Amino acid sequence: KAKALGRNKCWFYTKELKGALKRKLAIEQALRIALEQDEFILHYQPQYRACTKELVGAEALIRWQPRNGSLVSPADFIPLAEETGLIVPIGDWVLRTACSQAAEWLRQGFPPFQISVNVSPRQLVEADFADRVRTILRETGLPPQYLMLEITEGVAIREEMETLAKLLPLKQQGVQVAVDDFGTGYSSLSYLTAVQVDSLKIAQMFIKDIPGSGGQAAIVKAIVAMAGSLKLNVIAEGVETEEQYEFLRSQGCHWIQGYYFAKPIAAEEFEQLHGNRQ
Ligand code: C2E
Ligand code: MG
Ligand code: MG
Ligand code: MG
Repeated sequence: KAKALGRNKCWFYTKELKGALKRKLAIEQALRIALEQDEFILHYQPQYRACTKELVGAEALIRWQPRNGSLVSPADFIPLAEETGLIVPIGDWVLRTACSQAAEWLRQGFPPFQISVNVSPRQLVEADFADRVRTILRETGLPPQYLMLEITEGVAIREEMETLAKLLPLKQQGVQVAVDDFGTGYSSLSYLTAVQVDSLKIAQMFIKDIPGSGGQAAIVKAIVAMAGSLKLNVIAEGVETEEQYEFLRSQGCHWIQGYYFAKPIAAEEFEQLHGNRQ
């Protein structure tokens, strides 16, 4: 392709590509080191039952804390980790850390709640994905019913049903499955029943402008109603205001997650926040 653009342009593109490739390789190398040297941490964002405000779950969200740098957000390294396949060992680490933390909190007498872990499509296509999860549950001692795997709607559509069927044995053990960022893909809804999904997480973009006068409130209403008739749990994320919370509660949304209640926080802060409540 580049050739057709002529000699000079070809040279130009090559140089550009080289620069981009170099940057990519540098980040990839840094991610490998980060994994070896334990530079990742998890923050936990509490989830509450809409009608009672009791703690029902927490979503584990990864951050990268380089030796002498500031916290890097997952948006800045997860895509590259997915591209390079490094998300597989990183995802294992996330699962293990989150499950072990949740098991520890259960032992400490925390009110039982569900720990949600984001799973990238790249992890899901690994032949031994279900085995990896089972091993982690066994080794951390977390009972399967406390784990919720978040799959993005994009995955549910793109990947073959075959891939998603890998979740079924885990589901039979009690592991829960949630569809993340629901409403942003263009899906046939058949996978919701085929995969026996348990929860829908309404994408943040629909929460932003509610109640408002636009179409978003109508979409949220429709999702909650549909989830109701399919007997699915609905989780709203990105809830930032009292108005949003009140609207979602009045519509019958089950769980709420967002800055209005709590930001994602380190494990120690999470303990302070919820240890006190008991
Ligand atoms: P997500 O799974 O949809 O997570 C929700 C994101 O919304 C989180 O961003 C969270 O901090 C943010 N959020 C929560 N409440 C509010 C709110 O009230 N207002 C606003 N504006 N934002 C809110 P975060 O932590 O930066 O994570 C971004 C994305 O990175 C996640 O989106 C998820 O797709 C991905 N991610 C995070 N951790 C992991 C991981 O361990 N593995 C994989 N594969 N992906 C991860
Ligand atoms: Mg998520
Ligand atoms: Mg997501
Ligand atoms: Mg989401």
